[in-house]
Amino acid sequence: MVWREILAKTDSYLAGKGVPEPRTAAELLAARLLGAGRGSLAGALDLEPSERQLEAMRRGMARLAAGEPVQYVLGEWDFRRLTLKCDRRALIPRPETEELVTAALKYLDALPRDGSGRLVVDVGTGTGAIVLSMAKESSRGDCVFLGTDVSEDAVALARENAERCGLSDRVNFAVMDGLDDFDEPQCVDAIVSNPPYVETAACERLDPRIRDHEPRIALDGGADGLGFYDRYLTDAVNLLKPGGAVFFEIGDTQGDAVKKMMFDCGFDDIAVTKDFAGFDRYASAVLK
Ligand code: GLN
Repeated sequence: MVWREILAKTDSYLAGKGVPEPRTAAELLAARLLGAGRGSLAGALDLEPSERQLEAMRRGMARLAAGEPVQYVLGEWDFRRLTLKCDRRALIPRPETEELVTAALKYLDALPRDGSGRLVVDVGTGTGAIVLSMAKESSRGDCVFLGTDVSEDAVALARENAERCGLSDRVNFAVMDGLDDFDEPQCVDAIVSNPPYVETAACERLDPRIRDHEPRIALDGGADGLGFYDRYLTDAVNLLKPGGAVFFEIGDTQGDAVKKMMFDCGFDDIAVTKDFAGFDRYASAVLK
């Protein structure tokens, strides 16, 4: 059997199991095994896979059919310019989150280059996607990047990603509950976070691929989904330098509530902006 037939069979098998976008999933699996991009599969369609490749296709198919997200089955996923290792230790990096990085980078690049040194903290870093992308793309040599996570597993994964992306010397990671271990006031330039923001009750209604496979600790934002914003903003008031800023990903109905929290904590330049799908997704503010 050649790859063309394998892909067709995998596609129809996965479709029968209710896997979304079965053809894409089949192609991504095959491309990974061939060490090729999805776009270059065409050249392999009339070739026969090796026994090892067939076996790996079968294993991948079984995992997809059992409801595992394709990103975990592949074991890696692209985020901005990075390909990150991705497994059950952390939330899958989402395309919406890419724009949070754009906003934070824009702010960082506009800060004066006065030799004072800059510190950016990504709270709840998970795979490390946000902070690793910032370190990769920032033009600043005077900036220290730190990713924190309460989950030791997530920090281990983020460190593996730093290594894989050649960014180990640019980004530090620490196991920390929120921002709890900072003791020096006014030492941070920017706090960036995609915290858990799904209301506890709504977690049960998430797509089963998310609900049953991604870490609940990275999704569950408590009864109203807003607890982490409250906590991080309160900490940010002490930790940010004057003129420092926060950049948060938010749930699409949380814009007004997060704006109010920011206002109540004394922030200025409060903004909520939309993602590519037109939903409120980012909240940022500056502490003047
Ligand atoms: N966007 C995620 C979802 O699919 C939630 C991410 C988060 O809680 N930070 O629901």
